[in-house]
Amino acid sequence: MPIELKSEKELDGMRLAGHLNSEVRSILMKAIEPGISGRELDDLATYEIEKRGGTVTFRGYAPGGKPPFPGAICYSVNEELVHGIPGDRSLEAGDIVSIDMGVTYDGWVSDAAFTMPVGEVSDVANALINTTREALLCGIESARIGNRLGDISNAIENCSQGYGIVRGYGGHGIGREMHEQPHIPNHGRKGSGIELRQGMVFALEPMLAIGNPETVELQDQWTVVMRDGSLGAHWEETVAITSEGPEVLTQIIE
Ligand code: MG
Repeated sequence: MPIELKSEKELDGMRLAGHLNSEVRSILMKAIEPGISGRELDDLATYEIEKRGGTVTFRGYAPGGKPPFPGAICYSVNEELVHGIPGDRSLEAGDIVSIDMGVTYDGWVSDAAFTMPVGEVSDVANALINTTREALLCGIESARIGNRLGDISNAIENCSQGYGIVRGYGGHGIGREMHEQPHIPNHGRKGSGIELRQGMVFALEPMLAIGNPETVELQDQWTVVMRDGSLGAHWEETVAITSEGPEVLTQIIE
């Protein structure tokens, strides 16, 4: 079962972790331009998180015998979908880049990701990015008391507008740990799965592809790329289920 926050104080803990994530995400969004490398964005994220008293969640993460993840962010360009390692690869005009980042603050964890164009990109790339974001918003809208987990998955699927939905990766419970139960697929049947209750917190994260949604993991054991080399996009927010409805804890700060 997922974590259920028991008090307003616990919800406030998650809000602070989410807000810190949002602040640093805004800084990263403004820094993205042709010529900047993954390593530079990673250094910037680390600096800005630690300056605010947070800690980087991803660095050192090593599930299931994988090598420890070396970065503060996942940096995935074009055909790379998720879990890219930030290194020397620099962005070029016309690329799309996905940045995924976890922040821990006072023992609470937030997780959020965005995909954005670098300079001018094709209409096809823009449409993929926008639809993936809209699919996320559909999922968030369904994160309500009394709904079921499958309603979130189904809403994401229904808003995916015929793009390939990546299987095998998806959302998750989050709270004291980055990855908690349950796994949340980006496709599913309405009315299926656990009932959603006040205080549950989920990271929702649709991943859509222009082409075939099959993925491959590279030899670095982290980077996930589209098997056919086409573009993939990824958006993620951490969302709490409250009596007032879904509350996005990692809301983008414009
Ligand atoms: Mg996540």
